[in-house]
Amino acid sequence: MPDDMARPLVRGGGEGGASRHLEALMSEPGAPVIGILGTGDFSRSLARRLVASGYHVVVGSRTPKRSLARFPEDAELTSQMEAATQADLVFVAVFPEHHSTLLQLKPALAGKTLVDVSNGLQINRDGPSNAHQLADLFPESFVVKGFNTISAWNLQVGPRDGSRQVFLCSDNPIAKNSVTQLCRRMGFVPVDMGRLSSSLEIENLPFYLFPSWHLPVLCTLSLFIFFYLYNFLRDVLHPFVKGGKSAFYKMPIETVNVTLPSVALVMLALVYLPGLCAAFLQLRWCTKYNRFPSWLDRWLTRRKQFGLCSFLCAALHAVYSLCLPMRKSARYKLLNAAFKQVKAGVEDSWVDEDVWRMELYLSVGIMALGLLSLLAVTSLPSVANAVNWREFTFIQSSLGYCALFMATLHVLLFGWNRAFSPDQYRFLLPPTFVLVLILPLVALLGRLALFLPCVALRLRQIRRGWERRQHVHFTPRDGDCNGLEDVSDV
Ligand code: NAP
Repeated sequence: MPDDMARPLVRGGGEGGASRHLEALMSEPGAPVIGILGTGDFSRSLARRLVASGYHVVVGSRTPKRSLARFPEDAELTSQMEAATQADLVFVAVFPEHHSTLLQLKPALAGKTLVDVSNGLQINRDGPSNAHQLADLFPESFVVKGFNTISAWNLQVGPRDGSRQVFLCSDNPIAKNSVTQLCRRMGFVPVDMGRLSSSLEIENLPFYLFPSWHLPVLCTLSLFIFFYLYNFLRDVLHPFVKGGKSAFYKMPIETVNVTLPSVALVMLALVYLPGLCAAFLQLRWCTKYNRFPSWLDRWLTRRKQFGLCSFLCAALHAVYSLCLPMRKSARYKLLNAAFKQVKAGVEDSWVDEDVWRMELYLSVGIMALGLLSLLAVTSLPSVANAVNWREFTFIQSSLGYCALFMATLHVLLFGWNRAFSPDQYRFLLPPTFVLVLILPLVALLGRLALFLPCVALRLRQIRRGWERRQHVHFTPRDGDCNGLEDVSDV
Protein backbone atom coordinates (compact mmCIF):
# COMPACT_ATOMS: atom_id res chain seq x y z
CA MET A 1 0.00 0.00 0.00
CA PRO A 2 1.62 3.27 -1.08
CA ASP A 3 2.42 5.67 1.71
CA ASP A 4 0.53 8.94 1.53
CA MET A 5 3.58 10.80 2.70
CA ALA A 6 5.65 9.45 -0.16
CA ARG A 7 3.36 10.72 -2.89
CA PRO A 8 4.89 13.56 -4.91
CA LEU A 9 3.40 16.99 -4.52
CA VAL A 10 4.22 18.14 -8.02
CA ARG A 11 1.46 18.30 -10.52
CA GLY A 12 3.10 19.70 -13.60
CA GLY A 13 5.46 22.30 -12.18
CA GLY A 14 7.92 24.39 -14.11
CA GLU A 15 11.69 24.31 -14.31
CA GLY A 16 13.35 26.03 -11.43
CA GLY A 17 10.01 26.89 -9.89
CA ALA A 18 10.92 26.83 -6.23
CA SER A 19 7.37 27.60 -5.28
CA ARG A 20 4.67 25.15 -6.13
CA HIS A 21 1.18 26.16 -5.22
CA LEU A 22 -1.19 23.26 -4.91
CA GLU A 23 -4.88 23.42 -4.31
CA ALA A 24 -5.47 22.80 -0.63
CA LEU A 25 -8.41 20.57 -1.29
CA MET A 26 -9.09 19.64 2.32
CA SER A 27 -8.76 23.11 3.76
CA GLU A 28 -11.96 24.60 5.09
CA PRO A 29 -13.06 28.05 3.96
CA GLY A 30 -12.18 30.71 6.52
CA ALA A 31 -9.54 28.57 8.23
CA PRO A 32 -6.26 30.45 8.73
CA VAL A 33 -3.33 29.59 6.49
CA ILE A 34 -0.75 27.79 8.58
CA GLY A 35 2.91 28.11 7.67
CA ILE A 36 5.66 25.73 8.74
CA LEU A 37 9.31 26.69 8.43
CA GLY A 38 11.54 23.63 8.03
CA THR A 39 10.90 20.33 6.30
CA GLY A 40 12.21 17.85 8.85
CA ASP A 41 10.44 15.03 10.67
CA PHE A 42 8.42 17.33 12.90
CA SER A 43 7.34 19.55 10.04
CA ARG A 44 6.24 16.59 7.95
CA SER A 45 4.10 15.07 10.72
CA LEU A 46 2.68 18.46 11.67
CA ALA A 47 1.77 19.24 8.07
CA ARG A 48 0.00 15.92 7.77
CA ARG A 49 -2.01 16.48 10.97
CA LEU A 50 -2.89 20.07 10.04
CA VAL A 51 -4.08 19.04 6.60
CA ALA A 52 -6.18 16.28 8.16
CA SER A 53 -7.69 18.89 10.51
CA GLY A 54 -8.82 21.00 7.57
CA TYR A 55 -6.11 23.66 7.43
CA HIS A 56 -4.41 25.09 4.41
CA VAL A 57 -0.71 24.39 5.04
CA VAL A 58 2.23 26.18 3.45
CA VAL A 59 5.65 24.70 4.18
CA GLY A 60 8.70 26.92 3.78
CA SER A 61 12.01 25.32 2.90
CA ARG A 62 15.46 26.48 1.85
CA THR A 63 15.31 23.84 -0.88
CA PRO A 64 11.65 23.06 -1.53
CA LYS A 65 12.37 20.76 -4.44
CA ARG A 66 14.37 18.37 -2.32
CA SER A 67 11.59 17.75 0.21
CA LEU A 68 8.63 17.67 -2.14
CA ALA A 69 8.09 13.92 -2.12
CA ARG A 70 7.97 13.72 1.67
CA PHE A 71 4.94 15.92 2.24
CA PRO A 72 1.22 15.21 1.93
CA GLU A 73 -0.28 16.12 -1.39
CA ASP A 74 -2.57 18.77 0.03
CA ALA A 75 0.20 20.80 1.61
CA GLU A 76 1.98 23.46 -0.36
CA LEU A 77 5.77 23.45 -0.45
CA THR A 78 7.46 26.71 -1.20
CA SER A 79 10.33 28.97 -0.23
CA GLN A 80 10.69 30.19 3.32
CA MET A 81 9.85 33.77 2.27
CA GLU A 82 6.70 32.81 0.42
CA ALA A 83 5.48 30.61 3.27
CA ALA A 84 6.10 33.42 5.78
CA THR A 85 4.24 35.89 3.53
CA GLN A 86 1.23 33.67 2.87
CA ALA A 87 0.71 32.25 6.36
CA ASP A 88 -1.34 33.81 9.14
CA LEU A 89 0.32 31.68 11.79
CA VAL A 90 3.79 30.16 11.45
CA PHE A 91 5.32 27.11 13.14
CA VAL A 92 9.09 27.42 13.44
CA ALA A 93 10.13 23.76 13.02
CA VAL A 94 13.88 24.33 12.76
CA PHE A 95 16.43 23.74 15.49
CA PRO A 96 17.00 26.77 17.76
CA GLU A 97 20.63 27.01 16.61
CA HIS A 98 19.28 27.95 13.19
CA HIS A 99 16.65 30.47 14.30
CA SER A 100 19.00 33.32 13.41
CA THR A 101 19.12 32.14 9.75
CA LEU A 102 15.44 33.09 9.51
CA LEU A 103 16.12 36.78 10.22
CA GLN A 104 15.59 37.70 6.57
CA LEU A 105 11.91 36.76 7.10
CA LYS A 106 11.46 39.43 9.76
CA PRO A 107 9.35 41.85 7.66
CA ALA A 108 7.13 39.02 6.37
CA LEU A 109 6.59 37.66 9.89
CA ALA A 110 5.88 41.03 11.53
CA GLY A 111 2.53 41.07 13.34
CA LYS A 112 2.11 37.28 12.97
CA THR A 113 2.04 34.47 15.49
CA LEU A 114 5.20 32.34 15.65
CA VAL A 115 4.92 28.97 17.36
CA ASP A 116 8.26 27.83 18.75
CA VAL A 117 8.28 24.02 18.91
CA SER A 118 11.95 23.66 19.71
CA ASN A 119 13.62 21.66 22.45
CA GLY A 120 17.11 22.11 23.83
CA LEU A 121 19.81 19.50 24.18
CA GLN A 122 19.61 19.22 27.95
CA ILE A 123 17.84 20.71 30.96
CA ASN A 124 18.28 24.47 30.94
CA ARG A 125 17.89 25.86 34.46
CA ASP A 126 19.33 29.32 33.99
CA GLY A 127 17.66 30.49 30.77
CA PRO A 128 17.04 32.24 28.52
CA SER A 129 14.65 29.83 26.85
CA ASN A 130 14.63 29.18 23.10
CA ALA A 131 11.26 30.91 22.92
CA HIS A 132 12.63 34.03 24.62
CA GLN A 133 15.54 34.09 22.22
CA LEU A 134 13.16 33.75 19.28
CA ALA A 135 11.03 36.58 20.68
CA ASP A 136 14.17 38.73 20.91
CA LEU A 137 15.01 37.93 17.28
CA PHE A 138 11.47 38.73 16.10
CA PRO A 139 10.20 41.51 18.37
CA GLU A 140 7.41 42.43 15.96
CA SER A 141 5.96 38.90 15.98
CA PHE A 142 4.03 37.18 18.77
CA VAL A 143 5.84 34.11 20.00
CA VAL A 144 3.88 31.21 21.46
CA LYS A 145 5.73 28.28 23.00
CA GLY A 146 4.12 24.90 22.46
CA PHE A 147 4.00 21.48 20.83
CA ASN A 148 7.58 20.72 21.91
CA THR A 149 6.36 17.93 24.21
CA ILE A 150 4.55 16.23 21.30
CA SER A 151 6.77 13.99 19.24
CA ALA A 152 6.69 13.77 15.47
CA TRP A 153 5.37 10.25 15.97
CA ASN A 154 2.48 11.47 18.15
CA LEU A 155 1.59 14.03 15.53
CA GLN A 156 1.64 11.44 12.85
CA VAL A 157 -0.54 8.84 14.55
CA GLY A 158 -2.84 11.47 15.96
CA PRO A 159 -3.91 12.32 19.48
CA ARG A 160 -5.64 8.99 20.07
CA ASP A 161 -2.24 7.54 20.94
CA GLY A 162 0.42 8.96 23.23
CA SER A 163 0.18 12.22 25.11
CA ARG A 164 -2.74 14.51 24.28
CA GLN A 165 -1.66 17.53 26.31
CA VAL A 166 -0.03 20.51 24.62
CA PHE A 167 1.50 23.05 27.00
CA LEU A 168 1.21 26.61 25.69
CA CYS A 169 2.47 29.95 26.90
CA SER A 170 2.81 33.41 25.43
CA ASP A 171 2.87 37.06 26.38
CA ASN A 172 0.21 37.77 23.76
CA PRO A 173 -3.23 36.40 24.76
CA ILE A 174 -4.67 36.71 21.23
CA ALA A 175 -1.81 34.74 19.69
CA LYS A 176 -2.07 32.15 22.46
CA ASN A 177 -5.82 31.90 21.91
CA SER A 178 -5.41 31.23 18.19
CA VAL A 179 -2.89 28.45 18.88
CA THR A 180 -5.23 27.06 21.56
CA GLN A 181 -8.05 26.82 19.02
CA LEU A 182 -5.79 25.22 16.45
CA CYS A 183 -4.63 22.75 19.05
CA ARG A 184 -8.21 21.75 19.91
CA ARG A 185 -9.10 21.38 16.26
CA MET A 186 -6.18 19.01 15.84
CA GLY A 187 -7.62 16.88 18.66
CA PHE A 188 -5.07 17.79 21.33
CA VAL A 189 -5.76 19.20 24.78
CA PRO A 190 -4.21 22.65 25.24
CA VAL A 191 -2.88 23.46 28.69
CA ASP A 192 -2.42 27.19 29.32
CA MET A 193 0.87 27.70 31.17
CA GLY A 194 0.58 31.48 31.30
CA ARG A 195 3.17 33.95 30.11
CA LEU A 196 6.28 33.33 28.01
CA SER A 197 8.33 33.16 31.22
CA SER A 198 6.97 29.60 31.58
CA SER A 199 8.65 28.61 28.32
CA LEU A 200 11.81 27.49 30.14
CA GLU A 201 9.75 25.08 32.23
CA ILE A 202 7.92 23.81 29.12
CA GLU A 203 11.20 23.32 27.29
CA ASN A 204 12.59 21.32 30.20
CA LEU A 205 9.55 19.02 30.43
CA PRO A 206 10.75 16.46 27.84
CA PHE A 207 14.00 15.97 29.78
CA TYR A 208 12.49 14.94 33.08
CA LEU A 209 12.76 11.23 33.82
CA PHE A 210 9.96 10.43 36.28
CA PRO A 211 10.83 13.41 38.51
CA SER A 212 8.39 12.50 41.27
CA TRP A 213 9.61 8.89 41.42
CA HIS A 214 13.27 9.48 42.32
CA LEU A 215 12.79 9.58 46.08
CA PRO A 216 10.27 6.69 46.36
CA VAL A 217 12.29 4.44 44.04
CA LEU A 218 15.50 5.29 45.90
CA CYS A 219 13.81 4.49 49.22
CA THR A 220 12.42 1.21 47.88
CA LEU A 221 15.79 0.13 46.52
CA SER A 222 17.68 1.16 49.68
CA LEU A 223 15.20 -0.67 51.90
CA PHE A 224 15.32 -3.72 49.64
CA ILE A 225 19.11 -3.86 49.80
CA PHE A 226 19.13 -3.31 53.54
CA PHE A 227 16.53 -5.97 54.35
CA TYR A 228 17.97 -8.43 51.83
CA LEU A 229 21.42 -8.21 53.41
CA TYR A 230 19.90 -8.37 56.89
CA ASN A 231 17.92 -11.53 56.01
CA PHE A 232 20.94 -13.00 54.24
CA LEU A 233 23.03 -12.54 57.39
CA ARG A 234 20.42 -14.11 59.63
CA ASP A 235 18.96 -16.88 57.46
CA VAL A 236 21.82 -17.87 55.15
CA LEU A 237 25.13 -16.87 56.67
CA HIS A 238 24.28 -17.68 60.30
CA PRO A 239 23.50 -21.41 59.72
CA PHE A 240 26.63 -21.67 57.58
CA VAL A 241 28.94 -20.02 60.12
CA LYS A 242 27.45 -21.62 63.22
CA GLY A 243 26.54 -25.13 61.97
CA GLY A 244 28.24 -25.46 58.59
CA LYS A 245 24.82 -25.83 56.93
CA SER A 246 24.53 -24.53 53.40
CA ALA A 247 21.36 -22.49 53.03
CA PHE A 248 22.47 -20.53 50.01
CA TYR A 249 19.63 -22.02 47.97
CA LYS A 250 17.37 -19.62 49.91
CA MET A 251 18.86 -16.57 48.24
CA PRO A 252 16.76 -16.35 45.02
CA ILE A 253 13.32 -17.01 46.50
CA GLU A 254 13.06 -17.34 50.27
CA THR A 255 15.28 -14.39 51.14
CA VAL A 256 13.62 -12.24 48.49
CA ASN A 257 10.21 -13.29 49.74
CA VAL A 258 11.03 -12.21 53.30
CA THR A 259 12.53 -8.97 52.03
CA LEU A 260 9.60 -7.91 49.82
CA PRO A 261 6.93 -7.74 52.56
CA SER A 262 9.37 -5.90 54.82
CA VAL A 263 9.88 -3.24 52.16
CA ALA A 264 6.15 -3.14 51.40
CA LEU A 265 5.18 -2.52 55.02
CA VAL A 266 7.84 0.09 55.72
CA MET A 267 6.95 1.91 52.47
CA LEU A 268 3.27 1.84 53.43
CA ALA A 269 4.14 3.35 56.81
CA LEU A 270 6.14 6.01 54.97
CA VAL A 271 2.93 6.97 53.12
CA TYR A 272 1.20 7.92 56.35
CA LEU A 273 4.08 9.23 58.47
CA PRO A 274 4.52 12.60 56.65
CA GLY A 275 0.81 13.41 57.16
CA LEU A 276 1.23 12.71 60.87
CA CYS A 277 4.40 14.81 61.05
CA ALA A 278 2.51 17.67 59.38
CA ALA A 279 -0.40 17.34 61.84
CA PHE A 280 1.87 17.30 64.90
CA LEU A 281 3.85 20.28 63.59
CA GLN A 282 0.62 22.22 63.12
CA LEU A 283 -0.45 21.30 66.66
CA ARG A 284 2.91 22.42 67.98
CA TRP A 285 2.92 25.68 66.05
CA CYS A 286 -0.81 26.23 66.71
CA THR A 287 -1.21 27.46 63.16
CA LYS A 288 -1.45 26.05 59.70
CA TYR A 289 0.14 29.11 58.13
CA ASN A 290 3.77 28.18 58.86
CA ARG A 291 5.58 26.56 55.96
CA PHE A 292 6.65 22.96 56.44
CA PRO A 293 10.35 22.19 56.07
CA SER A 294 11.20 21.45 52.44
CA TRP A 295 11.97 17.76 53.11
CA LEU A 296 8.48 17.32 54.55
CA ASP A 297 6.94 19.17 51.61
CA ARG A 298 8.71 16.83 49.17
CA TRP A 299 7.76 13.78 51.19
CA LEU A 300 4.09 14.84 51.33
CA THR A 301 3.93 15.26 47.56
CA ARG A 302 5.43 11.81 46.93
CA ARG A 303 2.97 9.79 49.04
CA LYS A 304 1.18 8.31 46.03
CA GLN A 305 4.45 7.03 44.59
CA PHE A 306 5.47 5.58 47.97
CA GLY A 307 2.11 3.78 48.09
CA LEU A 308 2.48 2.39 44.58
CA CYS A 309 5.99 1.10 45.37
CA SER A 310 4.57 -0.56 48.48
CA PHE A 311 1.80 -2.13 46.41
CA LEU A 312 4.30 -3.47 43.89
CA CYS A 313 6.35 -5.15 46.64
CA ALA A 314 3.21 -6.57 48.29
CA ALA A 315 1.95 -7.97 44.97
CA LEU A 316 5.33 -9.56 44.26
CA HIS A 317 5.35 -11.03 47.77
CA ALA A 318 1.94 -12.63 47.07
CA VAL A 319 3.19 -14.17 43.83
CA TYR A 320 6.41 -15.42 45.45
CA SER A 321 4.44 -16.91 48.35
CA LEU A 322 2.13 -18.77 45.97
CA CYS A 323 5.17 -20.24 44.25
CA LEU A 324 6.87 -21.42 47.47
CA PRO A 325 5.36 -24.95 47.51
CA MET A 326 6.39 -25.50 43.86
CA ARG A 327 10.08 -25.52 44.76
CA LYS A 328 12.00 -28.77 44.98
CA SER A 329 13.50 -27.65 48.29
CA ALA A 330 10.02 -27.31 49.80
CA ARG A 331 9.08 -30.82 48.65
CA TYR A 332 12.27 -32.36 50.05
CA LYS A 333 11.77 -30.56 53.35
CA LEU A 334 8.21 -31.84 53.58
CA LEU A 335 9.25 -35.41 52.81
CA ASN A 336 12.12 -35.27 55.28
CA ALA A 337 9.83 -33.97 57.99
CA ALA A 338 7.35 -36.75 57.24
CA PHE A 339 10.08 -39.43 57.38
CA LYS A 340 11.34 -38.02 60.66
CA GLN A 341 7.86 -38.20 62.15
CA VAL A 342 7.40 -41.77 60.98
CA LYS A 343 10.77 -42.67 62.47
CA ALA A 344 9.85 -41.01 65.72
CA GLY A 345 6.52 -42.81 65.69
CA VAL A 346 4.45 -39.60 65.64
CA GLU A 347 1.14 -40.19 63.90
CA ASP A 348 -0.61 -36.88 64.18
CA SER A 349 1.43 -33.74 63.58
CA TRP A 350 -1.55 -31.36 63.92
CA VAL A 351 -0.76 -28.39 66.19
CA ASP A 352 -3.85 -26.36 66.85
CA GLU A 353 -2.02 -23.13 67.65
CA ASP A 354 0.04 -23.30 64.46
CA VAL A 355 -3.05 -23.98 62.39
CA TRP A 356 -4.92 -21.00 63.79
CA ARG A 357 -1.93 -18.72 63.44
CA MET A 358 -1.49 -19.64 59.79
CA GLU A 359 -5.19 -19.30 58.94
CA LEU A 360 -5.36 -15.84 60.48
CA TYR A 361 -2.00 -14.80 59.04
CA LEU A 362 -3.04 -15.66 55.48
CA SER A 363 -6.52 -14.20 55.76
CA VAL A 364 -5.26 -10.87 57.10
CA GLY A 365 -2.51 -10.76 54.47
CA ILE A 366 -5.01 -11.27 51.65
CA MET A 367 -7.21 -8.51 53.06
CA ALA A 368 -4.26 -6.14 53.27
CA LEU A 369 -3.35 -6.85 49.66
CA GLY A 370 -6.97 -6.34 48.59
CA LEU A 371 -7.11 -2.95 50.31
CA LEU A 372 -3.75 -1.96 48.84
CA SER A 373 -5.04 -2.86 45.37
CA LEU A 374 -8.04 -0.62 45.95
CA LEU A 375 -5.74 2.25 46.98
CA ALA A 376 -3.58 1.71 43.91
CA VAL A 377 -6.56 1.69 41.56
CA THR A 378 -8.04 4.85 43.04
CA SER A 379 -4.72 6.65 42.69
CA LEU A 380 -5.07 6.39 38.89
CA PRO A 381 -6.01 9.86 37.61
CA SER A 382 -8.98 8.57 35.59
CA VAL A 383 -10.46 6.86 38.68
CA ALA A 384 -9.50 9.69 41.06
CA ASN A 385 -11.33 12.13 38.79
CA ALA A 386 -14.49 10.05 39.01
CA VAL A 387 -14.81 10.36 42.81
CA ASN A 388 -15.32 13.48 44.89
CA TRP A 389 -12.86 14.77 47.44
CA ARG A 390 -14.64 13.13 50.42
CA GLU A 391 -14.71 9.75 48.67
CA PHE A 392 -11.07 10.10 47.68
CA THR A 393 -9.90 10.94 51.21
CA PHE A 394 -12.09 8.17 52.64
CA ILE A 395 -10.39 5.61 50.41
CA GLN A 396 -6.85 6.99 50.61
CA SER A 397 -6.89 7.87 54.31
CA SER A 398 -9.43 5.67 56.14
CA LEU A 399 -9.06 2.56 53.99
CA GLY A 400 -5.35 3.29 53.74
CA TYR A 401 -4.98 3.12 57.53
CA CYS A 402 -7.06 -0.09 57.47
CA ALA A 403 -4.58 -1.52 54.96
CA LEU A 404 -1.69 -0.46 57.19
CA PHE A 405 -3.40 -2.02 60.21
CA MET A 406 -4.07 -5.29 58.34
CA ALA A 407 -0.52 -5.46 57.02
CA THR A 408 0.85 -4.81 60.53
CA LEU A 409 -1.40 -7.53 61.93
CA HIS A 410 -0.17 -9.86 59.18
CA VAL A 411 3.41 -9.33 60.38
CA LEU A 412 2.43 -9.61 64.06
CA LEU A 413 0.76 -12.95 63.33
CA PHE A 414 3.85 -14.06 61.47
CA GLY A 415 5.99 -13.13 64.47
CA TRP A 416 3.50 -14.57 67.01
CA ASN A 417 5.62 -15.32 70.11
CA ARG A 418 8.87 -15.78 68.25
CA ALA A 419 10.11 -12.33 69.19
CA PHE A 420 10.63 -13.69 72.73
CA SER A 421 12.61 -16.73 71.68
CA PRO A 422 16.40 -16.30 72.21
CA ASP A 423 17.30 -18.44 69.16
CA GLN A 424 15.66 -15.80 66.94
CA TYR A 425 18.43 -13.34 67.83
CA ARG A 426 21.05 -14.65 65.45
CA PHE A 427 24.34 -12.73 65.48
CA LEU A 428 22.52 -10.76 68.23
CA LEU A 429 20.31 -9.26 65.52
CA PRO A 430 16.57 -9.05 66.25
CA PRO A 431 14.25 -10.88 63.83
CA THR A 432 13.33 -8.91 60.69
CA PHE A 433 9.68 -8.64 61.63
CA VAL A 434 10.61 -6.81 64.83
CA LEU A 435 12.51 -4.16 62.85
CA VAL A 436 9.78 -3.93 60.25
CA LEU A 437 7.08 -3.26 62.83
CA ILE A 438 8.65 -0.09 64.28
CA LEU A 439 7.48 2.47 61.69
CA PRO A 440 3.97 1.03 61.11
CA LEU A 441 3.35 0.95 64.87
CA VAL A 442 4.55 4.55 65.17
CA ALA A 443 2.17 5.53 62.36
CA LEU A 444 -0.79 3.67 63.85
CA LEU A 445 -0.17 5.02 67.36
CA GLY A 446 0.27 8.53 65.97
CA ARG A 447 -3.05 8.23 64.16
CA LEU A 448 -4.69 6.98 67.38
CA ALA A 449 -3.28 10.00 69.23
CA LEU A 450 -4.88 12.28 66.64
CA PHE A 451 -8.21 10.56 67.27
CA LEU A 452 -8.25 11.76 70.91
CA PRO A 453 -11.15 14.24 71.07
CA CYS A 454 -9.13 17.15 72.50
CA VAL A 455 -6.37 16.71 69.91
CA ALA A 456 -8.79 16.14 67.02
CA LEU A 457 -10.79 19.24 67.95
CA ARG A 458 -7.72 21.46 68.17
CA LEU A 459 -6.38 20.14 64.87
CA ARG A 460 -9.71 20.76 63.17
CA GLN A 461 -9.74 24.33 64.52
CA ILE A 462 -6.20 24.93 63.28
CA ARG A 463 -7.05 23.58 59.84
CA ARG A 464 -10.04 25.94 59.71
CA GLY A 465 -7.69 28.87 60.20
CA TRP A 466 -7.54 29.21 64.00
CA GLU A 467 -4.16 30.18 65.40
CA ARG A 468 -2.79 31.03 68.79
CA ARG A 469 -1.89 34.69 68.64
CA GLN A 470 1.56 35.65 69.70
CA HIS A 471 1.93 37.86 72.71
CA VAL A 472 1.33 41.47 71.65
CA HIS A 473 3.76 43.92 73.13
CA PHE A 474 2.75 47.53 73.62
CA THR A 475 5.85 49.48 74.44
CA PRO A 476 4.91 52.28 76.84
CA ARG A 477 6.01 55.77 75.98
CA ASP A 478 8.23 57.52 78.51
CA GLY A 479 6.27 58.22 81.63
CA ASP A 480 3.24 56.27 80.40
CA CYS A 481 2.58 53.46 82.82
CA ASN A 482 -0.90 52.58 81.62
CA GLY A 483 0.13 50.65 78.53
CA LEU A 484 -0.97 47.04 78.16
CA GLU A 485 1.71 44.39 78.15
CA ASP A 486 1.76 40.75 77.20
CA VAL A 487 -1.82 40.55 76.11
CA SER A 488 -2.41 37.10 74.89
CA ASP A 489 -5.60 36.18 73.16
CA VAL A 490 -5.70 32.44 73.20
P1 NAP B 1 15.05 18.02 11.39
O1 NAP B 1 14.43 16.76 10.88
O2 NAP B 1 16.53 18.08 11.44
O3 NAP B 1 14.54 19.24 10.53
C1 NAP B 1 15.03 20.55 10.71
C2 NAP B 1 14.70 21.35 9.48
O4 NAP B 1 15.12 22.69 9.69
C3 NAP B 1 15.45 20.90 8.24
O5 NAP B 1 14.72 19.92 7.56
C4 NAP B 1 15.58 22.19 7.43
O6 NAP B 1 14.59 22.22 6.44
C5 NAP B 1 15.25 23.30 8.43
N1 NAP B 1 16.27 24.35 8.49
C6 NAP B 1 16.04 25.64 8.32
N2 NAP B 1 17.17 26.36 8.42
C7 NAP B 1 18.15 25.50 8.64
C8 NAP B 1 19.54 25.62 8.83
N3 NAP B 1 20.15 26.80 8.82
N4 NAP B 1 20.24 24.50 9.04
C9 NAP B 1 19.65 23.29 9.10
N5 NAP B 1 18.32 23.11 8.92
C10 NAP B 1 17.58 24.19 8.71
O7 NAP B 1 14.50 18.33 12.83
P2 NAP B 1 13.07 18.00 13.45
O8 NAP B 1 13.15 16.70 14.16
O9 NAP B 1 12.00 18.18 12.45
O10 NAP B 1 12.96 19.15 14.57
C11 NAP B 1 12.63 20.45 14.22
C12 NAP B 1 12.29 21.23 15.48
O11 NAP B 1 11.19 20.59 16.12
C13 NAP B 1 13.44 21.24 16.50
O12 NAP B 1 13.51 22.49 17.11
C14 NAP B 1 13.02 20.21 17.51
O13 NAP B 1 13.52 20.49 18.80
C15 NAP B 1 11.51 20.33 17.47
N6 NAP B 1 10.83 19.11 17.90
C16 NAP B 1 11.03 17.95 17.21
C17 NAP B 1 10.36 16.81 17.64
C18 NAP B 1 10.52 15.49 16.92
O14 NAP B 1 9.91 14.49 17.33
N7 NAP B 1 11.29 15.43 15.85
C19 NAP B 1 9.50 16.85 18.75
C20 NAP B 1 9.32 18.06 19.39
C21 NAP B 1 9.98 19.18 18.96
P3 NAP B 1 14.93 22.83 4.99
O15 NAP B 1 16.27 22.28 4.61
O16 NAP B 1 13.86 22.34 4.11
O17 NAP B 1 14.95 24.31 5.15
